[in-house]
Amino acid sequence: MNYNKKTVKDIDVAGKKVLLRCDFNVPQDKTTGAITDDKRIRAALPTIQYLLDQNAAVIACSHLGKPVATFDSYVKKQAEKGKDPASITEEEWKKSLAKLSLAPVAKRLAELLGREVIMAADVVGSDAQAKAAALKPGQILLLENTRFEKGETKNDPALAKAMAAMAEVYVSDAFGAVHRAHASTAGVADYLPAVSGFLIQKELEIIGGALADPKRPLVAILGGSKVSSKIGVINNLLEIADTIIIGGGMCYTFAKAQGASVGNSLLEADWLDYCKEMMTKAQAKGVKLLLPVDGVAAKEFSADAAPVAVEGNGIPDGMMGMDIGPKTIALYAEAVKDAGTVIWNGPMGVFEFPAFAEGTRAIAKALAESGAITIIGGGDSAAAVQQLGYADKMTHISTGGGASLEFMEGKELPGVACLLDA
Ligand code: ADP
Ligand code: MG
Repeated sequence: MNYNKKTVKDIDVAGKKVLLRCDFNVPQDKTTGAITDDKRIRAALPTIQYLLDQNAAVIACSHLGKPVATFDSYVKKQAEKGKDPASITEEEWKKSLAKLSLAPVAKRLAELLGREVIMAADVVGSDAQAKAAALKPGQILLLENTRFEKGETKNDPALAKAMAAMAEVYVSDAFGAVHRAHASTAGVADYLPAVSGFLIQKELEIIGGALADPKRPLVAILGGSKVSSKIGVINNLLEIADTIIIGGGMCYTFAKAQGASVGNSLLEADWLDYCKEMMTKAQAKGVKLLLPVDGVAAKEFSADAAPVAVEGNGIPDGMMGMDIGPKTIALYAEAVKDAGTVIWNGPMGVFEFPAFAEGTRAIAKALAESGAITIIGGGDSAAAVQQLGYADKMTHISTGGGASLEFMEGKELPGVACLLDA
């Protein structure tokens, strides 16, 4: 696919102040706060390095987690969780914010870049303003968590304007956040010339290319927990793919729609008709829709539950489906073997429990050995591939779970739409 947005290479950044939106929303250890996976920081390095090499003054920003930006809404949220509002202190709220400071990211980024990263204590406050004003070409400043500002998620023009006022150019490289129209991901583009970095370009070229002009056969593997979270994706991929493979928790709603009984498996009764519709649509379009022919079940949803092999697409009463079975693995691996392109979104089973990870592991292995262009979208699928040791065997693992899903649904991404056309 031809990427049709301007990138950092299409604009003069030398000596300029550049506001760079990154996706530094990294996973952290709950108790120590240590960054447990710095993949997203590493993914931002090519653009940051390019800007610094071009002698730009880089003002980087990102959100991290879901801080509650005002004390009032913090009290409300805690009260909803059953806490006595009178017992909630401002100190407690501030502590919850401190846990989501970008300071650990600044530290890790400095290590990766091998140079100083100046940290601002706020987003558009006096510290950020002063440090941005003093920033010299070739230096990098990191603003605090953009979601510390209540205007961020509301895409408040006042916040967007204040952020934009610190810089002369806006570069977005936060692929993981492009499906959100927030002040720092979309709003700022109203006030500055806006272009993309290399990560957004790469994600859209690879995923977009696989959707627009795939090397065929195009096989889409869809799994994960719910049909309802992937409705748009299934529907859109049915227009494009040659084969669609269904696994994970969502396959039981399909099995039920085919008339099987599924015991206590994940079932979304509201989506039974939708599943029937998709099966009819697949037939009408000549798309092969593969569903499980056997499974692995358990009496309870637990890591210690004993795995029970089940023949056929149903699950016995009193049990729940936890993984695809060996015949299904063979069927799916065969479909993947001759694929030109494979798009995978959603684990085949409860891979977090080792006893039920075999389906996901076997499919990851089949992808790794296929010779096809392999694209992994979806946060849990990316984690599964990583955890199972196949990450470096894949063509592309998307850094944006939600963003890649919305892109595969064919939806417009506000964080991309706002950038200058090439
Ligand atoms: P992704 O983030 O890759 O898009 P999802 O968020 O849709 O994937 O789903 C991932 C989750 O689905 C995993 O936590 C996994 O345990 C769960 N899952 C997979 N198969 C089943 C199943 N049979 N029953 C319940 N949960 C399942
Ligand atoms: Mg997920």
